[in-house]
Amino acid sequence: MPAATLDITILGSGTSTGIPVVGCDCSVCQSADPRNKRTRCSALIKHGQYNILIDTATDLRQQALRENIRHIDAVLYTHSHADHMHGIDDLRSFNLRQKAAIPLYGSPRTLERVRDNFAYIFADAEIPGYVPRLSLQPIETAFPLFDLNIVPIPLNHGGMQAYGYRCGPFAYLTDCNGIPEESLPLLENLELLVLDGLRFKPHNTHFNIPQAIEMAQKIGARQTLLTHLSHEVDHPRHDPQLPERISFAYDGQHFSLEISQTEEKAVGSQLS
Ligand SMILES: [Zn+2]
Ligand SMILES: [Zn+2]
Ligand SMILES: [Zn+2]
Repeated sequence: MPAATLDITILGSGTSTGIPVVGCDCSVCQSADPRNKRTRCSALIKHGQYNILIDTATDLRQQALRENIRHIDAVLYTHSHADHMHGIDDLRSFNLRQKAAIPLYGSPRTLERVRDNFAYIFADAEIPGYVPRLSLQPIETAFPLFDLNIVPIPLNHGGMQAYGYRCGPFAYLTDCNGIPEESLPLLENLELLVLDGLRFKPHNTHFNIPQAIEMAQKIGARQTLLTHLSHEVDHPRHDPQLPERISFAYDGQHFSLEISQTEEKAVGSQLS
């Protein structure tokens, strides 16, 4: 079977405030290194003609302009926290170009929050063109999307559940401080893992960097990027201190991964 390609772009690698933090004079927030400038966490999966967005981060418009994203064919939501969702209204620009609704995938709970938090989008009285056109597609198990197999990965994010997603050799696990045992078999044989690694100090709802390193080594992907980074992380100073095959993500990073159809089926079958 011929190999297809997944092109991954790190749209945003920053924690909920974005970096620089408003009003902060620390050396990272004042740094001129572009890798220390972080928009809110998000990623793009490009497969053939299709663009799949992970989360609608607060900085979606800025990310779409920077990466010249001209269409969005689906959104995968990890969870309902504001930094991952509040760029939702920027999907309107894509609706206007595409003249079609955009499907949003996520857990039933996450999509309930979309409907509650952004009721104006779903209100019948709204005038077309002034609100995004979206369709809610709750998912709880692996599902096919544009001839890919998308596998939701349940994660612990403090007291709530968040989803990570696996797609062939790629997995994206932001916002977590624990990975349930049942989720680990879904993370075997990865080429590229993106994993939450907020900061050095401990945190109640995110892996700190030592915990993220330990988890990355347990999962054993060929390459791991730590994301959702705070202003404690100074890229040029701290990146060389990470173990081999682990690095800090930065905005605008691109990866091209090969995906074989047989690999795809193998991952999906683990759920049945
Ligand atoms: Zn977050
Ligand atoms: Zn700072
Ligand atoms: Zn969160």
